[in-house]
Parts: sequence; C-alpha cells; structure tokens
Amino acid sequence: MSFQSLVSAMEERRYKLTGPRLKLLATVMERGHSFTAEELYAELPDVGRATVFRTLKLLLELGSICKLNMDDGTPVYRRGTSAHHHHMVCTSCGRVQDFARCDIDSMLRRLAGATGFKASAHRIEVYGLCRTCQARKVKEEKL
Ligand SMILES: [Zn+2]
Ligand SMILES: [Zn+2]
Ligand SMILES: [Zn+2]
Repeated sequence: MSFQSLVSAMEERRYKLTGPRLKLLATVMERGHSFTAEELYAELPDVGRATVFRTLKLLLELGSICKLNMDDGTPVYRRGTSAHHHHMVCTSCGRVQDFARCDIDSMLRRLAGATGFKASAHRIEVYGLCRTCQARKVKEEKL
C-alpha cells in the first residue's frame, strides 16, 4: 500500500490526519524491518501513546502492518501484506522473515473432525537462527 492510498484509507475511517499523525504514518512506512511501539514514541515525542496505539491498530486492520511476538513475548510490528503469511524470527539478531507456505489447513480439518473445534484463524511464528547468525556462530566456535 502506498503512502497516499494509506492516507485515503485512514481518512475514510474518519481518522484525523494531524501533522504528528502524518509524521507517525510516514515513520511506519519508512521502516523496512520490525519495530516496537516504544521505538515509535522515542522517535516521535510529540505523538501521544494513545495515538500510536490507535494508529497501529488501524494499520493492522488495513493489513499494511503485521504484529508478531518475539520469543520473549515482546510485541513487534512490521510492514507487511494482507496476504496470508507467517514469520520466522531470529532469536539472535531479531531479524524477521516472512514465509507464505502454510500447510496447516489439513491438520486443522483433522482437528475439527476429532474435536468439533472450528478454527477461524491461526498464528504461526517460528523462532530460530537466521543464515547470518548461523554463519557467525560457526565462526565463533572455530575461534
Ligand atoms: Zn508479516
Ligand atoms: Zn539473525
Ligand atoms: Zn497459515
């Protein structure tokens, strides 16, 4: 979603785009990697906490960012697509990678058959080491 279409989508939802809010949107759109709400307050001291949370919530609804949890439970946000995908989180450097392949549907169908539970959504986060951190680890072990 481009910045301009995001602005229109926010206006359609009667979200008032004041100067600080526009700055907040621009900051979120610039992020190429994951970020926390705290990082946003720190960067934009003139934007209130409530505004940061409300904006992040709207952006989540619009599908322009996704929310995930680090292995310690810290919530982080990330620019994303509304298409179905999951995340691989590096527990060493915090890098997040998306993956779209998701084979859980047949498992959920079996679960529904066995328990009667009807799943409406699921969340999968995979924790581990990214390629770079694995290579670094191997190097450190050799030293
Ligand atoms: Zn995502
Ligand atoms: Zn890593
Ligand atoms: Zn999935």
